[in-house]
Amino acid sequence: MFESVPAALRLTIDGDALAANWRWLRARGGEAACGAAVKADGYGLGARGVVDRLAREGCRDFFVSSWAEAAALGPMPEGVALSVLHGVREADMPAALSGIARPVLNSAEQVARWKAAGGAACDVMIDTGINRLGLRPEEAGVLAGLEIETLMSHLACADEPDHPMNERQLARFRQVRAAIPAKRYSLANSAGICLGKKYAFGVTRPGLALYGGIPVIGHSVQEQGLRPVAAVETEVIQIRQVEAGETVGYGATWQAHHPTKVAILNVGYADGILRQFAEHLPIRVGDQVFGMIGRISMDLIAVDVTDHDHVVITEHDGEGWTSHKRLRTPANVREGDWLTLPLHLPWLSRSTTLSQYELLTTLGHRYQRRWT
Ligand SMILES: *Cc1c(COP(=O)(O)O)cnc(C)c1O
Repeated sequence: MFESVPAALRLTIDGDALAANWRWLRARGGEAACGAAVKADGYGLGARGVVDRLAREGCRDFFVSSWAEAAALGPMPEGVALSVLHGVREADMPAALSGIARPVLNSAEQVARWKAAGGAACDVMIDTGINRLGLRPEEAGVLAGLEIETLMSHLACADEPDHPMNERQLARFRQVRAAIPAKRYSLANSAGICLGKKYAFGVTRPGLALYGGIPVIGHSVQEQGLRPVAAVETEVIQIRQVEAGETVGYGATWQAHHPTKVAILNVGYADGILRQFAEHLPIRVGDQVFGMIGRISMDLIAVDVTDHDHVVITEHDGEGWTSHKRLRTPANVREGDWLTLPLHLPWLSRSTTLSQYELLTTLGHRYQRRWT
């Protein structure tokens, strides 16, 4: 028979960029340890690969949402802790008691459940204003007797540095810290780290920024010193010549004004390349950039790869794409070539109104992940 079929679609993950982003975030947090949120399968990039790479860098604290995610992740490297943010339902108890991770207890019910089961070391979430998960500070009495490893809270508006909510939550969290004993305290996600060291406490919990997202609204890539981590690479599965007057794709929305060489690529909206990306996502072959034409299909996109001797070169300057015309040697794209779709998250987010989180976590499951 056969071993496996090589995918015509790859997600290339730059492990050095991931590690550099983590070190940058750690430095911003001062004395605090720097953890990593790897929920939603490492924001779409593959939680296992992220854990292994960051554990080698020295990361000792990882966070997933659910026990299903903790189980899927498999054993943690030696000396590395995993926390499950969504607490423990009754159905989670066998997994939780197996010791694969620590629960982050969010409610009085969960605290009671954990205590009744013996109450080993756990984490606790206190809600300081986001009103999502966590005990209210005034409910803290129920925590007496628990062995709390990390006491945490989560910021609602950290991506807006001037939002009054940040200072308000910081003040509440300081009161919580004074009142509830725990080994360590934790408040900051990626954007929280960027608010300054006073938000870092004992351990930080970045997610988005690790993966090349820009956590603070309005900041540029350079300002933040973060590097893009993921790129989509897809194979050309057919080249076709389209005559003037013919159309390409569903809805016949694009019409050729002159004979056009079209590459059909093995990627589509089922892989997170959503229909509204069409005008915003450049396709790269070497140093040349091409544009998509027509509608994006579930599994296919079309790209104009006509060999003009002039081409509009589009370059990313960290803030956006700028275009200029220059002479080029024809790329001569052929069936079997690989083309790259660079995922510049802040820019793509601004152009599509999707959040950088949505852009990453909707990439889908058909990619063969390749670490470089
Ligand atoms: C997702 C999450 C994080 C990471 O947030 P980013 O904005 O991706 O850095 C941290 N803490 C909690 C509780 C989370 O749910």
